[in-house]
Amino acid sequence: MEARRLKKGFTMDLAALDALVGRLPRRRIGFYPTPFHRLDNLSAAYGAGFFLKREDLAGPGTISGSKTRLAEFIIGQALEDGVTHLITQGVYLTNSGMQFAAACRAAGLTPILFLTRDEGRHGELAEYRGNLLLSKIMEVETHYLPTRGGAYWDTADEQQRIADAMAARKEELAGQGHKALIVPTGGAHPYGFVAHTLTFTEMIRQAEASGVRLDYLYHTAGTGTALPGLLAAKLVTGSPVVVRSIAICDYRPGNWINVEVVVDRVKHILKLLEVPVPADEVIRAEIDVDERFIGEDYAVPSPEGVAAIKELARSDGVFMGPVYTGKGFAGLLDHVRSGRVEPGRNVAFLHTGDTANLFEIPQVVGDVAGGR
Ligand SMILES: *Cc1c(COP(=O)(O)O)cnc(C)c1O
Repeated sequence: MEARRLKKGFTMDLAALDALVGRLPRRRIGFYPTPFHRLDNLSAAYGAGFFLKREDLAGPGTISGSKTRLAEFIIGQALEDGVTHLITQGVYLTNSGMQFAAACRAAGLTPILFLTRDEGRHGELAEYRGNLLLSKIMEVETHYLPTRGGAYWDTADEQQRIADAMAARKEELAGQGHKALIVPTGGAHPYGFVAHTLTFTEMIRQAEASGVRLDYLYHTAGTGTALPGLLAAKLVTGSPVVVRSIAICDYRPGNWINVEVVVDRVKHILKLLEVPVPADEVIRAEIDVDERFIGEDYAVPSPEGVAAIKELARSDGVFMGPVYTGKGFAGLLDHVRSGRVEPGRNVAFLHTGDTANLFEIPQVVGDVAGGR
């Protein structure tokens, strides 16, 4: 089918965007649309409308997150390409690795994980908890690499060491007649960036159906896989919803993830959909990353994050996680308290998952059980 070509400056409606995305290879694995609902008690407490878009409930298992959508598109293309094995990497507690492993199991591909662990901070691996336990239950082939520093991205030579190890395993499989696809950390593979356009269109439809006009969409930004799709959908549909990101890692220029990388990924999505690509400044103007909630380091609990997890659980019975969503939600609460989100506005938070990390070691979770 010929793509719908649009004149410069024109936007399309939600259905037209969904139709363009619908032409791409996709292996259905999760339960979409994910739920969208109001947080009544938090809304009453702050005098604002709080809503959640529940990517944490995406499936196929009870514990999920925002990587499952990426996996549907990456695996969809991989199956067309005759791929048999999917190799990916992350910190040992990776949400992404667990979701890719589950998606592979659902789709009949063999998952392989390369996981790093900062033994200085998190100790030697002595027991299986959280996401690692779930991957263990799925009997995932797992390679462990001890690293210095909080995360694999801390030094270039460590990044290279992991890339070399994955490439070697891929070669080995090729020698045995298999075809492996290497998916970068966090699922940041070009086949997947388009996925979260659907999160945006689903959410706008769900909000409209409940008579809600959303003013803001907040989310936790890490490897930069959700944000490009959200922004692409906003730009293509001309939506007035303001997207704001709370980062859990540094977005400084020149870093492995930064604003320019996000701009490039938005352009990649628009080109893939064969719609007009605006000037870089137009895309850049939509990116708003707050880096004040990272805390001491990646996967180290922050007092604000722990407080936000407890506050939401106590008010509305919903659980965020300590590595990503607790810190992201802390950023949102700060913006509401300080007036960056004006009183009475409607704000949605994208619950990207991370709940398995509530069952991690105390050095990761922090004192969520403390207090009353
Ligand atoms: C991966 C992840 C994120 C952030 O990743 P992006 O690639 O920036 O979208 C946020 N929250 C959770 C729970 C994650 O697993």
